[in-house]
Amino acid sequence: MRTLERRQLLFAGAATLLGRKLFAQADRAALIEDLVAANHILYAQNIVDAFGHVSVRTAPGAERYLISRSLAPAQVTAADVVEYDLDSKPISDTRTSYRERFIHGEVYRARPDVMSVVHCHAPSLIPFGITKVPLRPVYHNSSFIGEGVPVFEIRDTAGDTDMLIGTSELGRALAKVLANKPAVLMRGHGAVIVGKTIMDAVARSVYLEVNARVQAQAMAMGQRINYLSDGEVKKRAAADEYGRAWDLWKRQATLQTAASK
Ligand SMILES: [Zn+2]
Repeated sequence: MRTLERRQLLFAGAATLLGRKLFAQADRAALIEDLVAANHILYAQNIVDAFGHVSVRTAPGAERYLISRSLAPAQVTAADVVEYDLDSKPISDTRTSYRERFIHGEVYRARPDVMSVVHCHAPSLIPFGITKVPLRPVYHNSSFIGEGVPVFEIRDTAGDTDMLIGTSELGRALAKVLANKPAVLMRGHGAVIVGKTIMDAVARSVYLEVNARVQAQAMAMGQRINYLSDGEVKKRAAADEYGRAWDLWKRQATLQTAASK
């Protein structure tokens, strides 16, 4: 091969590699932008307060995830995002981590289909974790609840604790109870909600909380409740599309962030 041709080939190869690297960087920047928006949306929608967190897997099948350093979700910026492995060890960051990050690592390990995880302490969910009343789908936006929302009892694994998922062992026990479901309630603590995208995990978190409030209101009326049927839940699973809600929430969150600067 002549020198000129070889040079052209080398140049083309380098350009492809550079192109791939630029694409990967753009993907990561978009992922971090969505993660920051998710933090702000969950706060604006009253799903998290000073506590609670949301994460995203770095790529399908990847054994890494991104989450903020220990910080109130409303305050998270791109500079606060840290990468972790599935043992929930930071890759290269020494800032304080969320104590309950093991929820995320162990759910990603157990559920290859999951791309995003939310952990919250929304008060309206608590009654359904401390009584025998199951959370059931009361309206179309929360139909995914019909797939099942189990309750994690931390005492079954560790007896009396400080209630937090502060180890990989507890994270594994929680992920086992979550199994293949869209969410799990944590008795006397909160919930974990998963999704195949950040948008799914955030929207499910919002509608899980709305469902809990509406179900409690309906139960207080003392009449038999007409829940979504199994057939309706199945048909809704094919129709679930939260894009419009996500676009609106992201815009609101962006405007609020800009206004607070
Ligand atoms: Zn918690």
